Amino acid sequence: MQNDRSKAWFEKAQKFIPGGVNSPVRAFGSVGGTPVFIQKGDGPFIIDADGNRYLDFVSSWGPLILGHRHPVVVKAIQKALERGTSFGAPTEAEVALAAKVVELVPSIEKVRMVNSGTEAAMTAVRLARGISNKDKIIKFEGCYHGHSDSFLMKAGSGTATLGIPGSPGVPKSLVSDTLLAPYNDLTAVESLVEAFKGQIAAVIVEPVAGNMGTVPPKEGFLKGLRELTRQAGIFLIFDEVITGFRLSNGGAQELFGVQPDLTCLGKIIGGGLPVGAVGGRCDVMDALAPAGTIYQAGTLSGNPLAMSAGLATLDYLQKYRIPLKLNETSTIFVARLKKWIHQKSLPVTINQVGSMVTLFFTNTAVENFKQASGADAGLYAKFFHSLLEKGIYFPPSPFETVFLSHAMQPEDLDMAFDKITVSLLEALRAE
Ligand SMILES: *Cc1c(COP(=O)(O)O)cnc(C)c1O
Repeated sequence: MQNDRSKAWFEKAQKFIPGGVNSPVRAFGSVGGTPVFIQKGDGPFIIDADGNRYLDFVSSWGPLILGHRHPVVVKAIQKALERGTSFGAPTEAEVALAAKVVELVPSIEKVRMVNSGTEAAMTAVRLARGISNKDKIIKFEGCYHGHSDSFLMKAGSGTATLGIPGSPGVPKSLVSDTLLAPYNDLTAVESLVEAFKGQIAAVIVEPVAGNMGTVPPKEGFLKGLRELTRQAGIFLIFDEVITGFRLSNGGAQELFGVQPDLTCLGKIIGGGLPVGAVGGRCDVMDALAPAGTIYQAGTLSGNPLAMSAGLATLDYLQKYRIPLKLNETSTIFVARLKKWIHQKSLPVTINQVGSMVTLFFTNTAVENFKQASGADAGLYAKFFHSLLEKGIYFPPSPFETVFLSHAMQPEDLDMAFDKITVSLLEALRAE
């Protein structure tokens, strides 16, 4: 594979940008080698600076459920662009997107637009703390809620990739208000709630974990969290930045029938542009300024280009029942892969919920961060590079989710199946 141009750009990037990237996992740190610089996206494919084409299973880490440059999204952005890029004043587009989110997501009655998933989670916790007048939160090991201070403990995603438990620069006083529990361990949460009675503002959880690789909630885990938090007067926050509009039109809460008090959204809601959102019941959301006293703001929040891209995406997903179809396509694809792996008795565990998929190089089940960390990262790196050589772009870290997109055609998935199976054998044979 020719990658001279990517190499040259990465060298130059390292001169001017810390680590050469604007988000850590992009640097290929855990798989080695040079990150490919992307020149262009085309439906399910990306093309790099050297002209290599890849079938894209990263989908910009989730937002591009319709693939690259979907005509409906491009048209919406172009139309908005003719009117202006930003006003810092209310526009119709943000009301339209807010109304759509309220229509789609079961627990949301009002929604505030922000610019990233990080801001959404930050705001959700501030709301819970501000209303409850309590400081502590419970988060789960391996769950990622963006890079704000309170969440950077065993945070999955890039921090797992780099093997750092937290981050320097986060005050100890802040971290002491973040309590940790293993994912899927309701008993551990019960113990924390008991031990810190009356001090806990919120439990925040990825209803399907995506940032330690895909880890589904065990039967009864989400419902158990709902009952426990309701009884104890604790806010339950679902971080649906990945799962929202992907697992179903109404996200994981619709799929699993559990309603949180607050929901964080991001990724798909911006249709490929930078958007996040936090939503919940009216009484909770109206605590935000200017309706209430809890402060939150953003110069570019509700940006008209981003709102248009988001609305076009959500409309399309709803109209053509894309999440439902994509879940089915993904299940068929993964079942085929699982069957093949079983026949070959390979030490690989596949976790899948809808179009979220992770291949773990381990014999055991993966139900929490400890088990995810137990998978063989070296084998994943070999597998990753073998796929890259063959024109398949997987996430450059074993702790991430593979996203199928609606743009992938049956023949693309057939091609992917062939190459994934060959690369699995190559990685394992190289042992
Ligand atoms: C990506 C992600 C975030 C952070 O969103 P950014 O837009 O990167 O700030 C938060 N929570 C979850 C579950 C995510 O996957």
